[in-house]
Amino acid sequence: MILVMFGPPGAGKGTQAQLIQKVLGLVQLSTGDMLRAAKNAGTAIGLKAKEAMESGQLVTDEIVVGIIADRISEDDCKNGFILDGFPRTVAQAEALDKMLTEKGLKLSHVIEMEVDDVVIVERVSGRFTCASCNEGYHDSFKPTKVEGTCDECGGTEFIRRPDDNAETVSSRLKAYHEQTAPLLPYYKEQGVLRTVDGMASIDEVSRQINEVLTV
Ligand code: AMP
Repeated sequence: MILVMFGPPGAGKGTQAQLIQKVLGLVQLSTGDMLRAAKNAGTAIGLKAKEAMESGQLVTDEIVVGIIADRISEDDCKNGFILDGFPRTVAQAEALDKMLTEKGLKLSHVIEMEVDDVVIVERVSGRFTCASCNEGYHDSFKPTKVEGTCDECGGTEFIRRPDDNAETVSSRLKAYHEQTAPLLPYYKEQGVLRTVDGMASIDEVSRQINEVLTV
């Protein structure tokens, strides 16, 4: 199964992708995580992506398409994968279709998580991840069960993203509306678009997604 998690920043794409990954054993491929790792490691790609990421703009299509093309050719992707944060432009979606067609594969579902802009800032500014296993948390909506300890791996170090601040979030939202939302008619036309209520609780969104996946 090949899934695309689709929605604005803070919609819960990563949270739901992690849940699907646990249940269905599909690999979660987050271009944001890959770019942050490249940036932190100071690779050539990381250096090229840095400025755009820090200002909430999109990194070039050429960079992200290249990253995804390499990643989906790896062995752990052969039973399927979940794209989280990719594609984000029509050019990326076309490149993805081409890559999949060449491999004899096709998209199973594009899961759109609909969320009002007004709640995005609150959602994004409270989130953090475990530095060891990358499990995602939120101060209000998904705190750790034991304060300061990761539920999944027992890690005690957590990371807050520098671009999860009000100013950068508004640029990221603008990029979403101008460059990413135009993909919705593209996927609707292909008959793969499934919309869930991203404003609902994590459990309810997960239930709606499971319904889509079992149809
Ligand atoms: P995310 O973790 O998905 O919110 O991504 C963080 C940042 O990485 C974005 O604000 C962009 O600067 C960059 N990025 C991630 N995925 C893409 C993509 N598919 N296309 C362009 N830029 C991306």
